[in-house]
Amino acid sequence: MTGATSSAVHGQKGLTDRLARWARGLSGKGDEDEGAEEQASPQRARSGSASSREITRRRKLYEDIGDFLFAHDLDLTPLNFGVAHDYLTGAQIGMEKAIKAVLAERGQITNGWVETTVAEQRSDEITPDALASMLDKIEENLSQFTGLMTESRNSAKDYGAALQEEVKVLAASGDNQPIMARLVALTRSMVEKTRQVEGQLRQNQKQTQLLKSNLESARRAAEHDHLTGLPNRRAFESVLRDELALAQRQGEALAVAFCDIDHFKLINDAHGHETGDRVLKFVAGLLAKVSNDQCHVARHGGEEFVMLFRGKTAPEACEAVDGVRQDLVTRSLVNRTNGERMERVSFSAGVANVLAYEDPRAALKAADRALYLAKEHGRNRVYLAAEND
Ligand code: GH3
Ligand code: MG
Ligand code: MG
Repeated sequence: MTGATSSAVHGQKGLTDRLARWARGLSGKGDEDEGAEEQASPQRARSGSASSREITRRRKLYEDIGDFLFAHDLDLTPLNFGVAHDYLTGAQIGMEKAIKAVLAERGQITNGWVETTVAEQRSDEITPDALASMLDKIEENLSQFTGLMTESRNSAKDYGAALQEEVKVLAASGDNQPIMARLVALTRSMVEKTRQVEGQLRQNQKQTQLLKSNLESARRAAEHDHLTGLPNRRAFESVLRDELALAQRQGEALAVAFCDIDHFKLINDAHGHETGDRVLKFVAGLLAKVSNDQCHVARHGGEEFVMLFRGKTAPEACEAVDGVRQDLVTRSLVNRTNGERMERVSFSAGVANVLAYEDPRAALKAADRALYLAKEHGRNRVYLAAEND
């Protein structure tokens, strides 16, 4: 029914209609009649049905969020609640996409996945690539500036030297001529000024060098994880690109491994986040021990690490990772806060041959799937991805 039709309806009938529409609005139906409401009785009926629809909608949303959290066994934390809300309402396209992708692949999301993904999406607000290109630009400007300064310092120096020569000539030509004497004085002061400018430029050059080295350390910091000191995911991605090119050029094997600490959430829950952090650092240290210029270890996010082995086949990489796994499970860690002995800490891993896939991304996915299977089959084990996987 349109507004025009409604306004033509006779008094009592109009009221009945409005009441009927209002009642339908309460049950969440009859949205299409809302336009008619505006003609007959503007505010009350409209706001009445709108608010009851709003209540119904919100109640349904609470239920859906609850179902979602329950279905994925997610803790009732503000973070998980917010993510479920964004997914179900489509309020955040990035999160919706990420959840759809992980559901299609694993059918399940976890607390850790949510934390890591939210952190990633936040850091995506200033994309690492944008940051890198900003740093590149600053560095380029600085190089140009340094070049300019060197140039002007040199020309100031040359100018100073030339003037000094002139002064010598003028002074030798006799000091009984007042004009000449003034000229000599003037030239001397110009020489002095030139020296000052040259000094300032030298100072600026020093500062620019300092700025450049500060930028380099900022770039290093942006590529490392502050907790474990390991390279972060972004740095790993560029290492992967470089190592892939090198392995292909040199005809070497290349394998990638994902290692994920088992039941890490339980460790946090039992001993607190700080102890959890120490366990993370400890595991990072064990993995880093096997790294060298052909083996790279990085923190991929949360309690997950990634390793890249050049010159090792995937089964050989499996053995190397399994060595670290065995080393870890024989350790008996102590909670430094209360001196209590902790339960055994282990990790699971999935390994894939990078060269067996179309691109490194597919190899990473295969390693991740193998990791998932290692988890499913009992954890504390290293699985090799099937190459046709
Ligand atoms: P699974 O064996 O299936 O991997 O279980 P899990 O408990 O390790 O995995 P889940 O993904 O459920 O939980 C990972 C936990 O890791 C949740 C998150 O709070 C914790 N975590 C992630 N990053 C850090 C960190 O930097 N420090 C600490 N202490 N905990 C972290
Ligand atoms: Mg994990
Ligand atoms: Mg884990």
